[in-house]
Amino acid sequence: MNKILVSACLLGKRVRYDGRALTVTEHILKEWIRSGRVVSICPEVDAGMPIPRPAAEISGGDGYAVLAQKGRVITSTGADVTDYFRSGAQQALALCKEHHIKIAVLSEASPSCGSSVIYDGSFSRTKNAGVGVTTALLRKNEIRVFSQHEISAAQAALANQ
Ligand code: SF4
Repeated sequence: MNKILVSACLLGKRVRYDGRALTVTEHILKEWIRSGRVVSICPEVDAGMPIPRPAAEISGGDGYAVLAQKGRVITSTGADVTDYFRSGAQQALALCKEHHIKIAVLSEASPSCGSSVIYDGSFSRTKNAGVGVTTALLRKNEIRVFSQHEISAAQAALANQ
């Protein structure tokens, strides 16, 4: 049975920067959990960041720029947390390799997990097209990443594996 990587906050775990979850209640996700397919990851907490923690945004591009040493991840208090984000991405990739995972559903707009948009680094609630650091690393390794708004598409991809 093929497994799937899912953001911990989407599974009801209170791991977001503000100490909250972003629980998804879709039937498909519940069925994945029931059948033992789901492997949970919070790249930021698993890398050692606390809960709660200051909001962070990518400055100088998106997750691909961070992996290329061109972008940085900066908190709203001005701390450079890039190394945590790179470490969390590596841990996500290691989990995918361990469980032979080729599909992930990650939380949209996060600087780690975003898969089509992220905040622009100005802390003005402005979003740009782009991906988070974990999504960038997974996609570089041919793992398909969907958002929580694309669970049906992820299910179709899983069925076609
Ligand atoms: Fe953790 Fe990703 Fe959820 Fe942020 S979006 S809390 S990094 S799982």
